[in-house]
Amino acid sequence: MVYAHRLDGSNSDLPIGKVVCVGRNYAEHARELNNPIPTEPLLFIKPATAIVPMEQPFTIPADRGSCHIETEMALLIGVPLTSADTVQAVAAVVGVGLGFDLTLRDLQNDLKAKGQPWEKAKGFDGGCPLSGFVSAAGVDFGNIDLRLTRNGELQQQGNSGDMLTPVAELLSYISGIFTLMPGDIVLTGTPAGVGPLDSGDQLTAELGCFISVNTRVVT
Ligand code: ZN
Repeated sequence: MVYAHRLDGSNSDLPIGKVVCVGRNYAEHARELNNPIPTEPLLFIKPATAIVPMEQPFTIPADRGSCHIETEMALLIGVPLTSADTVQAVAAVVGVGLGFDLTLRDLQNDLKAKGQPWEKAKGFDGGCPLSGFVSAAGVDFGNIDLRLTRNGELQQQGNSGDMLTPVAELLSYISGIFTLMPGDIVLTGTPAGVGPLDSGDQLTAELGCFISVNTRVVT
């Protein structure tokens, strides 16, 4: 079983159930991959078996084409949510952290071309490095900076205020389709600047002033 861990020790750990992800939630990221901007959230799920600790060197598949990194704000859900309104949805978030939505981009493009689901490109073992979580109490989800530095160069920079579907509406929408359970994670989409990883890359991911993670890519 995979547990969400907390950086502030404020609550007991929760076993992670599933990771619900949203694609193309930042317009500039949709544009950089020549994708249309969706008119409603584009959802997919990674299983808990995809999760590995972000703080430790993590592995990317060596033989399945390019593996892109997408740096995303991760939300830890604390109470069950089904068809929740936006107020209930925000109140259910007990932790905020960072996730890498690792994506086998060549494979994803193949799957998209064939009209097939993305799971093999998104939900593979190790495809979701997650940081620890800090308490979400008092956090303004609408104004959090996200940054990724790769080998000393700024690669991704964005602000959650640029989400096409903001956190409250996103969680409400998700909960109308997939019940969110305590220990589930929601990845809220990536800003522009995604790109392929190489073995040996040194990464620093930052979420506002809350979280900064240094890690490394191995194969
Ligand atoms: Zn993503």
